[in-house]
Amino acid sequence: MRHLRIGVAVLISLLALSPAQSGWAQTPSGELPALEHFSASIVDHSVNPCDDFYQYADSKWLSAHPIPADQPGWGVEYPLQLWNETLLRATLEKASVAEGSRTPNEQKVGDFYYACMDEKNINVRTQEWLKPELERINAIRNKSDIATEVAHLHQTIPGAWIQGDDQTEAALLGFSGLPDYHDASRDVAQFDQGGMGLPGRSFYLDQTDKAKEIREKYLEHVANILVLSGEKPEVAKVDAAVVLEMETALAKAAMDPVARRDPKNLNNKMTLSEIKALAPSFDWDRYLEAVHAPATPHYIVTTPNFFKSLEALLQHQPLEHWRAYLRWQFLHGSASALSTAFVNENFSFYGRTLYGIEQLQPRWRRCVRSVDGNLGEALGQVYVARAFPPESKRRALQLVEDIEVALAKDIATQGWMAPATQKQALEKLHATMNKIGYPDKWRDYSSVEIGRASHLANRQNATRFEFERWVNKIGKPVDRTEWGMTPPTINAYEDPQTNTINFPAGILQPPYFDSSQDDAANYGSIGAVIGHETIHGFDDQGRKFDAVGNLRDWWTAQDGKEYEARGKCIADEYTQMVPEAGAGVKQDGRLTQGEDTADNGGLHLAFMALQSALARQGKDLDMKEKDGLTPRQRFFLAYAFSWCEQYRPETIRTWVLSNPHSYSKYRVNNVVSNMPEFWQAFGCQAGQKMVRAKACHVW
Ligand SMILES: [Zn+2]
Repeated sequence: MRHLRIGVAVLISLLALSPAQSGWAQTPSGELPALEHFSASIVDHSVNPCDDFYQYADSKWLSAHPIPADQPGWGVEYPLQLWNETLLRATLEKASVAEGSRTPNEQKVGDFYYACMDEKNINVRTQEWLKPELERINAIRNKSDIATEVAHLHQTIPGAWIQGDDQTEAALLGFSGLPDYHDASRDVAQFDQGGMGLPGRSFYLDQTDKAKEIREKYLEHVANILVLSGEKPEVAKVDAAVVLEMETALAKAAMDPVARRDPKNLNNKMTLSEIKALAPSFDWDRYLEAVHAPATPHYIVTTPNFFKSLEALLQHQPLEHWRAYLRWQFLHGSASALSTAFVNENFSFYGRTLYGIEQLQPRWRRCVRSVDGNLGEALGQVYVARAFPPESKRRALQLVEDIEVALAKDIATQGWMAPATQKQALEKLHATMNKIGYPDKWRDYSSVEIGRASHLANRQNATRFEFERWVNKIGKPVDRTEWGMTPPTINAYEDPQTNTINFPAGILQPPYFDSSQDDAANYGSIGAVIGHETIHGFDDQGRKFDAVGNLRDWWTAQDGKEYEARGKCIADEYTQMVPEAGAGVKQDGRLTQGEDTADNGGLHLAFMALQSALARQGKDLDMKEKDGLTPRQRFFLAYAFSWCEQYRPETIRTWVLSNPHSYSKYRVNNVVSNMPEFWQAFGCQAGQKMVRAKACHVW
């Protein structure tokens, strides 16, 4: 699943996504913050647009909006984030009042929010909640008990089912039901790497001073968390060193995120006996039984090498070390649901050290996101009723269709593609399912028990439901209509195996999509987002999947070579220093190649679609309007405005080293400097910075 945005807010709260239903007729009115809207007045005329377009279009807004102390950054989507959370907060506050009649969904989200907000209760009862969990881990007497505990962690700590770019966060390893690579109509059991508390394997392996400093702070953090759970400081210090040693061994064996971008590397089909031969010391039968995994003829093991390293750890690390490691994994995954001391210690490392954030966000914001992350489709219905009228859905669908027409035209006119490849590409495009706003069928949470007494128990119950939902998919037909993001999410994604593009209601809002603004601004902003997701199906990764989502090479050998040469141009262009992230931080263009291809191709498609829309209305791209700008100029300015955001250096550093998205500034400047349509808009000439001598173009 490839996203549009980095999703910093989600990363920091360390919450997993899951999206329900209710009959809430009314929505609260509360004071909603003002949303940002694109306007021509954003331009800084002291900057030459052909020299630095991001600076020209965004610097005025950015200098007027410094980063607040409790945020990793600030940009035009942040007021929308606050708007969404404020709206949901009023709903949750109302639902959290236990008196009167509540629908089953109101009871669940209301009580979840109530228990999350009840900091006093959490503080008083944290040690009581931890006791049975730590006792279970301390009672581990053999290797089979380790497998039982890992199953328990998967059922109670979000993350075991998430296939990320680096996949490091699941407790010890990841397990899920996901589409089979060669038969995308069925879900198959998949084992993945995991078990690391730092955001990527390079955080364990890099030998720079900064990386060493972060590892020192991580050691302190692990020890501090263990002390909070009741360990003596001198014991915790020893245990923290064990944790780092074991995680480093896992990181060494884990597949790096660039290699993970090639699905062929992940598609290792194995029988259960082959998996047992790979890591005989892990009690696979015990694990599979504990998570109630359906029987299946074969499994996918994404990273066999990782499991060899797991075997070595099981053979050579004493049980005492395993108990320390599993205590840490449990506490780490649960910290944000525990007492203030745990929350603050968690923030101190994951907020301050890794992202440079000065201050923890107010509790209500964290709790709103926690409900969204755990019972998202129960809460999402209210959001849709309040913020996403049918007219928005209709217009968004129209935009998607315009973009798809543009891509069809683009494919048909690629001189380097053989007709046979073009035909397959068009088949894939026409088979894409467009999902707009929210699911047609809402998830049923009736089996999830939620009460007012324990925030930790609520989160564990919601996690068990979500994990088992993923595990239950094994062996069953794939459901293309399911959503991987909740309705209020300000993001979008493409999924090559279901061949779907997905746009939650949360991003179909100002400043991205605004029914009061002209086509040039809408196409430059939400049009580019839609184009981005559409192109993902045809980026260097997406092109390896066919119309039905199977991993199959449908390119002629020659066309495949032609594609790779064009893709390499992009990867080379984006392999660049990122001074905003601190000295010496370099982006790996091979990691960001798919996202960068989607950015470039997406804006190109949006531009083509705008041309068609204007032609339908008898308008011209280069005719000056009242504000002195042409639609062509407004299109590119609106694009730059949609990426008008700035981040703290620590955030950018962690981002560049672990995330496949380029930093916002480069999402603007690298893209426009590849586009003759842009050069024409602002009269840019060869030799100027925004006119790239070797412009890259894939789509
Ligand atoms: Zn993307």
